[in-house]
Amino acid sequence: MCVGPLKRLWHWGPLLALGIVKVVSLSMWHCSLMWWSPFNSLGGFLNMSIFTMWNALTLYHFFSAMIIGPGSLPANWKPENRDEIKYLQYCKFCDGYKAPRAHHCRKCNKCIKKMDHHCPWINNCCGHDNHTHFVLFLLCAVCGCMQASIVLCCSLYRALHRKWYMYYGTGDEPVVILGLFGFICCTFALGMALGVVIAVGGLFYFQKEQIRQKDKKRCRAKKYIIVEGCSGNWFPISKGFRVCCSVPLSDESRIRLDEGDRVLVTRWKRHWLYGEKILTELQYATQEVIRIRGWFPRVCAVEITNIEGVQSTEKIKKA
Ligand SMILES: [Zn+2]
Ligand SMILES: [Zn+2]
Repeated sequence: MCVGPLKRLWHWGPLLALGIVKVVSLSMWHCSLMWWSPFNSLGGFLNMSIFTMWNALTLYHFFSAMIIGPGSLPANWKPENRDEIKYLQYCKFCDGYKAPRAHHCRKCNKCIKKMDHHCPWINNCCGHDNHTHFVLFLLCAVCGCMQASIVLCCSLYRALHRKWYMYYGTGDEPVVILGLFGFICCTFALGMALGVVIAVGGLFYFQKEQIRQKDKKRCRAKKYIIVEGCSGNWFPISKGFRVCCSVPLSDESRIRLDEGDRVLVTRWKRHWLYGEKILTELQYATQEVIRIRGWFPRVCAVEITNIEGVQSTEKIKKA
């Protein structure tokens, strides 16, 4: 299903996003004209110009991310080199192979290159082609909203205390006059601007934290070799009473491993290990599932510290 740019726009996500941009910008411009007029001072002019720049950049990157799209694989796609097929997963919806890091999006009904997620705000996927535009859209929106929050806060304060400034002020203070409608609009805009800063800022922080955790995990990961096969049972009685008594309290899978298999372990418990099986080329070709991850009893594996470690392990096996 091919959706044109206008159809993409006709959805609650983009319409709401544009609505928020409009309310925040109009309130911000309205207040700035009174609170720090761009016609009377350089500061006021810069304040207005910078905000207008954020506004224009936000809209530019928003529409670019929406219209350019993430980039998708054509239906019935196959790699040029036939030998590579064995490494790829098959997408039954598109009736073709998935390139590495491509995923099928049910909303777009396509396999998306380097898919990150389907974003309702741009009513499109975020992937290979539009990732930069999407990140810049979020960044510009946060910067614009931060500036708008400050200006709206100050303007609302001035407007609320206008009478006090009239009687006790020096007379040089800016006069901000907001009617009931203006006051409601500006308060609403302030709420939305703060909401954007908190939500998107939180998202950035969360993503960064996730990447950091992944890196940490990768650094900590250690290779183990299996010296005793295990069945993938939840309660492997043959591995001892203690192993059965201290099963990991999670619904993650338990994996079956054979002697000689290698595993990249990322989590450790006293009697259990969690890791991903390292597949050989032959296993890649014959196995349907590409990643085999889960828990297995610790007694079955020995850590590979260095080459001698492997050799000594092999000696143990032979003995
Ligand atoms: Zn697909
Ligand atoms: Zn999608």
